[in-house]
Amino acid sequence: MGTAKAQKLLDAIAEEIREHVPCGFEICERATNLVPGEGSATAPVVMVGEAPGANEDALGRPFVGRAGAILDELLAVAGLARDEVFITNVVKARPPGNRDPRADEVAHHLPFLDAQLEVIRPRLLVPLGRHALKRFAPDMAIGEVHGHVLQRDGRTLFPLYHPAAALHNQRLRPTLVEDARALRQAL
Ligand code: URA
Repeated sequence: MGTAKAQKLLDAIAEEIREHVPCGFEICERATNLVPGEGSATAPVVMVGEAPGANEDALGRPFVGRAGAILDELLAVAGLARDEVFITNVVKARPPGNRDPRADEVAHHLPFLDAQLEVIRPRLLVPLGRHALKRFAPDMAIGEVHGHVLQRDGRTLFPLYHPAAALHNQRLRPTLVEDARALRQAL
């Protein structure tokens, strides 16, 4: 698929995500903005978080708060510019009060992520944290596979701890940086 066609398809998916309410799901209908994700349709790397937080909900963009600042640092260590990757989430709407998304909400949103990945077909998919990892390798624990290449269902995964984990636990920060260096090697 050519770059222009891929970008057009990805833009159409983003439009569908932003416009899909009303759908009967509280998580979508209470969102200020749904957050499709952003980046290149030919990105070699796709980073997948859990769900938008308050900042993302307000701006309609992924990872723009404190976790986003850490993600930017990790991308720099991995030698990747933000516009070279595609950044998105499993769930495209902020769960009210930042609770964990429910299973039916995840199922409601998964077709969007699947469609995005079908267009981008990245070389490396980076699940950020255990919730995203659950979508791609449900039998794996983030504590065991972070910073390592993993093959699953025809995809190459490179799981990282969620950047927000480093906000809650400062001791994880050096691990995240080390894993970002390993990501650079894996590329
Ligand atoms: N945390 C996530 O998982 N995703 C975002 O977009 C922001 C914070």
